Amino acid sequence: MKNHLPGVFSVSHLYSAILRGDVSCLAKAITLSESEKPTDQKKAGALLTQLLPHTGQSIRLGITGSPGVGKSTFIDAFGKYATSLGKKVAVLAVDPSSEKTKGSILGDKTRMEELSRDALAFIRPTASRHTLGGVAEKTREAILLCEAAGYEIIIVETVGVGQSETAVHNMVDFFLLLQLAGAGDELQGIKKGIMEMADGVVITKADGDNEKRARQAQVQFQHALHLFQLPESGWRPRVLTASATQKKGIADVWKMIEEFWKTTSSSGFFEEHRRQQQLIWFRQNTETLMRAKMLGSKKIIQQMKTLEQKIKEGKIIPSVAAQKIIQSL
Ligand code: GDP
Repeated sequence: MKNHLPGVFSVSHLYSAILRGDVSCLAKAITLSESEKPTDQKKAGALLTQLLPHTGQSIRLGITGSPGVGKSTFIDAFGKYATSLGKKVAVLAVDPSSEKTKGSILGDKTRMEELSRDALAFIRPTASRHTLGGVAEKTREAILLCEAAGYEIIIVETVGVGQSETAVHNMVDFFLLLQLAGAGDELQGIKKGIMEMADGVVITKADGDNEKRARQAQVQFQHALHLFQLPESGWRPRVLTASATQKKGIADVWKMIEEFWKTTSSSGFFEEHRRQQQLIWFRQNTETLMRAKMLGSKKIIQQMKTLEQKIKEGKIIPSVAAQKIIQSL
């Protein structure tokens, strides 16, 4: 009943509750930021602005890999390891396919059984109603809200499809690629772009019969990564093996991330990278809003229809038609 009292979810109430680490208010605030209602968006904007000084202190970790590679099992084990060190862990998801499958396939509590029962962990299913751009923006806001609530490790999970990796890469400090050991063809079928984005690769399911193949894959990946130029971060990506079910290699992944943090913090890259990401966020959001505003205008829509007809009839060149739209804005 308490939740229905007027004003209980006012910005000031949410502000202090989130700073206290109140999980239900954190969830509420994320829902508020995901809402498309203008009044909710205004409230969410005000809340985020107030909370801004309390954000930024976490390490933001992106995790990607094809379905079945072992992402949720790995996050479960990795998250439990981190909470055993006393760290608060939040798991968010960017899942571009969830709209089609009608439901989140990522960030689902049942997929991370142990972690979801851990008081130091917060797991949030994906904001599935939005387009990828919208999901990315909402996830960025959710990261800030989780940081304000005291989460020290924020994991953003995504499946290896579409543009979602680039979107996640643009919002995290460390990008981890999970990969299965294959039969000697590990490097085939992996998009070069993803390899270039990775700060680390973990060969999953390195147990039983698979352990030897995992080590072979590790060597192959390490060789392949050495062929790339040293990234701007100055950090040479590493390849590790892990078994999430046997809890092997998990601590080494955390050690690698800590080392990355130390190296890039002392060089100044860590903070500069975050500043650049803020600018990317601003620019992408401005574009999204401009497009939405434009396509929300009846006058523009009418003008586009007229011009499209003229294009079909061969009466106007598309680029000239586009300029006409821009001129009438
Ligand atoms: P996701 O789709 O990437 O999230 O993959 P899941 O975490 O759901 O794992 C897919 C399957 O691989 C499940 O049946 C898991 O039990 C299994 N699996 C995950 N991690 C390991 C591991 O470390 N070792 C072994 N042997 N199996 C694993």
